[in-house]
Amino acid sequence: MALMITDDCINCDVCEPECPNGAIFLGPLIYQIDPDKCTECVVHFNEPQCQQVCPVACIPLDPARVETREQLQARYERLQAEAAPSHSLSPAAPS
Ligand code: SF4
Ligand code: SF4
Repeated sequence: MALMITDDCINCDVCEPECPNGAIFLGPLIYQIDPDKCTECVVHFNEPQCQQVCPVACIPLDPARVETREQLQARYERLQAEAAPSHSLSPAAPS
């Protein structure tokens, strides 16, 4: 399940740098979470880091994005693969 940021957000900027996936960004009015990048911090941490630091506790689980740990793990692996340098996927050049 991805997390979401509610209207209680005070734009304090604290959560954004804590996300290991770069899923948090400043939207038109308040900070938002890209659900295609949020993994609930699986593998990286035991607890969602954004929830840990938010001073107004406005980052609940998104009930519209119910996901299993396996799905979150798969997203983590996809994000890692996308972050890897593209040349690492190519066969080694002959020397
Ligand atoms: S739960 Fe983790 S991955 Fe999801 S937005 Fe918060 S810090 Fe980022
Ligand atoms: S830590 Fe909480 S209040 Fe601060 S920007 Fe993030 S969601 Fe908003």
